[in-house]
Amino acid sequence: MTGACFCKAIKYEVLAESMMQGLCYCADCQTVGGSAYWASYAISPEQFRLTSGELKKYTSRSAAGRAVERHFCGDCGTQIKVQSNDVSVASVNAMTFDDPTHFRPQYTHFAQSAPHWCDVHPKLSPFQPPGE
Ligand SMILES: [Zn+2]
Ligand SMILES: [Zn+2]
Repeated sequence: MTGACFCKAIKYEVLAESMMQGLCYCADCQTVGGSAYWASYAISPEQFRLTSGELKKYTSRSAAGRAVERHFCGDCGTQIKVQSNDVSVASVNAMTFDDPTHFRPQYTHFAQSAPHWCDVHPKLSPFQPPGE
C-alpha cells in the first residue's frame, strides 16, 4: 500500500495492514491538522518505508507525557506520520493514501475532546492508543 504528501515529494509504502485504524480527536492532532480529528492508521515503525524524499521531524510531548515524533514533508508541510518510539507505534496519515478506501476506521481516540460542533461517529468504539 502506498501514499504521498500533498506536493508528492514524499512517497512511502506501508508493509502491513493496520489492526488499529481510528480517528484521533486529541487537541494536538486538531491543531496540527486543522481538523476535528487525525485519520490514524497505526502500524509498527518498521512497517513504514519511505520510497521518495526525506521526512523532517520534531518531537513534542503528548498529554500523557510521552515523546511523540511528528514527521512531515519539509516542502509542503503535510504531516505523514506520528511516532512514539517508547511504545513502537507509528500512526500514518490515512488521508495521504493513494487509495483512500484502504482506511476503515473502527475506533475513536480521545473523543471527549472532539469539538462541540463535531458529531463523533456512533459506530466507532472508543480506544485510548498507547502512543498518546
Ligand atoms: Zn510535500
Ligand atoms: Zn491525536
